[in-house]
Amino acid sequence: MYNVTIIGSGCAGLTAAIYAARADLKPLVLDGHEPGGQLSLTTHVENFPGFPDGIMGPELIENMRKQAAKFGTEFRSGSVSEVDLSQRPFKITAGKEVYETRALIVAAGASARLLGLPGEKELIGRGVSTCATCDGYFFRTKPIAVVGGGDSAMEEANFLTRHASKVYVIHRRDEFRASKIMIDRAKANPKVEFVTPYVVEQILAPEGLVNGLRLRHVNSGEHKELSIDGMFVAIGHDPNSVLFRGKLHMDENGYLIADHGSLSNIPGVFIAGDVQDHRYRQAVTAAGSGCMAALDAEKFLAEHKD
Ligand code: NAP
Repeated sequence: MYNVTIIGSGCAGLTAAIYAARADLKPLVLDGHEPGGQLSLTTHVENFPGFPDGIMGPELIENMRKQAAKFGTEFRSGSVSEVDLSQRPFKITAGKEVYETRALIVAAGASARLLGLPGEKELIGRGVSTCATCDGYFFRTKPIAVVGGGDSAMEEANFLTRHASKVYVIHRRDEFRASKIMIDRAKANPKVEFVTPYVVEQILAPEGLVNGLRLRHVNSGEHKELSIDGMFVAIGHDPNSVLFRGKLHMDENGYLIADHGSLSNIPGVFIAGDVQDHRYRQAVTAAGSGCMAALDAEKFLAEHKD
């Protein structure tokens, strides 16, 4: 029986673990299907306070993990397949294990969206990617495309110019959602070329490996083809909340609803990080909400000694 189980090992989950472990609650962290969360898939993080020269995302998350382990957090790998929140202790199934816990922190994060094109999923690892840091190296000296117009797309485009010969940024509008500093940086990069307003209509992979994209101009409907070896999809994320449907309150997009900090509609279940945040979605806000969830869980456990 655990005092606190934390679902998710990204920035929110690990911060919750650091706080819960320092409160001597001996928390259990269930890693989930993307250990380390989105920070482990990102590059240079320049806006996490305390790192004036920036820090690589994977290094930042590894530091948090070490910090949580140092104070007595237990880590288990595996995706959670079922949660029984009908009574306390709650029961969490991950793989063959069923964990019982007095309090639960849901920090399951959000996952990368795909465009929904035929063959797209099957071509992951064969030219389609959602992670520039993971896969950029495979496209050394090759032309590639990044799809999206947000900060992630700009960041990935800049990063990928280290490896690729050319990076096309394909975006469906002429305006960008990304912040000005990120757009300016991408625009100043001679290897980056913007292709707007276009959508990807088809991924060309005649021999099972991506070798081009068929694009459609959003206004004129005109088609053109781009020769590229890789397509990086950077069009945002969906919350990992499917397990909690019908159990925890969520909005129409599946984001869990946290009240007064981290409180869910079930006493003893707390919510933190990107699974509840479609507005800020920053590493530092995820960390802050992980802290809040751990403090709320600690208070709850002090008041419910059963
Ligand atoms: P985002 O800001 O939601 O941007 C998603 C982009 O993808 C938008 O430009 C959107 O186009 C486009 N898009 C969405 N669905 C699409 C579809 N089906 N087909 C084509 N295009 C599609 O997501 P994000 O870039 O992942 O950023 C998420 C959050 O993380 C933001 O708050 C961002 O500031 C933050 N972030 C910060 C940094 C940094 O500061 N270093 C780095 C990365 C991310 P429309 O604009 O037309 O809707």
